[in-house]
Amino acid sequence: MLHCGKFKQDTFAGAIGRITPPLVTCDDFVETSRKAKPEEENPMADDKKSEMEAILKRQRDAFTAARPEPMSARRDRIKRAIALLVDHGDDLARAMSADFGNRSHEASMITDITGTIGFGKYCFKHMDKWARPEKRGTRFPLGLLGAKAELRYEPKGVVGILSPWNFPVNLSIGPLMQILAAGNRAMIKPSEFTEKTSELTAELVAKYFAEEEVAVITGSPEVAAAFSSLPFDHLLFTGSTATGRKVMEAAARNLVPVTLELGGKSPVFLGRSANFEQAGERIAMGKMLNAGQICLAPDYMYVPEDKEQTAVDSVRQAAHNMYPTLLDNDDYTSVVTDRHFDRLQSMVADARDKGADVIEVNPANEDFSSTNARKMPLTILRNVSDDMMAMQEEIFGPVLPVKTYKNVDEAIDYVNRNDRPLGLYYFGSDAGEREHVLQRTISGGVTVNDVIMHVSMDDLPFGGVGPSGIGSYHGPEGFKEFSHARSVYTQPKADIAKLAGLKPPFGDTTRKTIAREMKKA
Ligand code: NAD
Repeated sequence: MLHCGKFKQDTFAGAIGRITPPLVTCDDFVETSRKAKPEEENPMADDKKSEMEAILKRQRDAFTAARPEPMSARRDRIKRAIALLVDHGDDLARAMSADFGNRSHEASMITDITGTIGFGKYCFKHMDKWARPEKRGTRFPLGLLGAKAELRYEPKGVVGILSPWNFPVNLSIGPLMQILAAGNRAMIKPSEFTEKTSELTAELVAKYFAEEEVAVITGSPEVAAAFSSLPFDHLLFTGSTATGRKVMEAAARNLVPVTLELGGKSPVFLGRSANFEQAGERIAMGKMLNAGQICLAPDYMYVPEDKEQTAVDSVRQAAHNMYPTLLDNDDYTSVVTDRHFDRLQSMVADARDKGADVIEVNPANEDFSSTNARKMPLTILRNVSDDMMAMQEEIFGPVLPVKTYKNVDEAIDYVNRNDRPLGLYYFGSDAGEREHVLQRTISGGVTVNDVIMHVSMDDLPFGGVGPSGIGSYHGPEGFKEFSHARSVYTQPKADIAKLAGLKPPFGDTTRKTIAREMKKA
């Protein structure tokens, strides 16, 4: 097996970086952290690619031989995926904590283990209904003559899953549940940043599934790139917009359909009618869970100009209440690697240099510069401008810029001038304003009076729009995403073509048919 592994965490450089953070932009970050090493140092072994191609072939052969995939086999697979998580949830949570440096065991159990089990059970409960063929209408009067039209949701075959590090179990085994419900086989390439979790996932999947049902391939970004060039029947990618572009290009070469679950800057609109104390609590909770390393984390906050201080105070107070200390507090997660940590430090330094007020929420006055724990306090940025990194890139960490508006339309215009976000949040009890914000903006999804929560509603499709993603899963839509909607039309015995005048030689009946169709709506 070829394992490129996690990028070396140079703790010394990391510690220095924390004191004098280098200016690392997101693009640099992606480039330097993803750049392929010279061939001799890090060959993307041909045998690794051949190994993946061989697994794909075995899975597709098994899939073809088993058609039609019985619902009982699909149910059995979902049961096994759930059993894997029930039996080894604690082990996986420990592996995630080891990968992050520290990740709250309870938080991991909630977000990655029970959340995924819950979604598996939801799929299990609804899959029969989702898989039912649908009757569709036929053109008049064909139905009267016995014609039938139906839509069948059939499995696509083998689906590739490329998953990120921030919720390594939820974002690999979660979609797997729905991919299996739809009757497919799957190959998973988890992130190289959470190496221990990825290795354990590979081990466990091999224990609970035959390789021709589900297989895990671990390795470097080069392995991921080769993975994305395989001729799957569908490819699901969860990760950054920059990598998503590469994945779509690679998939296009084989015309592989893709679902891209990407990131973006999800704004929070605080309306004047909001309950500021409650909003502050919910925003702080969403921003500090997983140390802000969430695709749907509230990225920045837009508040009425005269309420800025109240809004900032409420977020700050909530952070104090939930995390009275940070460094030795197991509830608070570390930033995943030194590189990611340094990027966030650079982002704050850049904002400070360009005139932002930086408010570090450090309730116990701890000295963060003296540790290698990669813990970063919630950092609120006021007085931000568009030229700051923090307003140009997805933050993906515990940094919260605050922008102000006199009229909510200014905030709407700002959001519309930028990339369409993955999530959008509105706080307030003014239904008119809420609808105005929702109707004048576009985003993947919305939570009203909280953040992030729409993703945990299993029955709602989850996905982005434009740069924040293509396609979605969760809900009945996810089952359809991983299925081929196959149209089946059955022609009646009667000679329809002749009756309608469609069969040459054309004559009066033909002309009557054309005249009938040529009426305005
Ligand atoms: P990433 O794009 O760096 O990596 C994601 C996956 O892509 C990894 O498994 C990696 O191995 C693989 N990869 C790397 N280079 C590749 C290449 N050239 N070709 C193909 N695959 C390649 O993302 P990340 O840093 O792991 O995760 C953070 C990003 O993911 C953020 O932007 C976040 O918003 C986004 N995200 C989105 C969702 C969602 O559901 N929409 C969920 C979580 C994270």
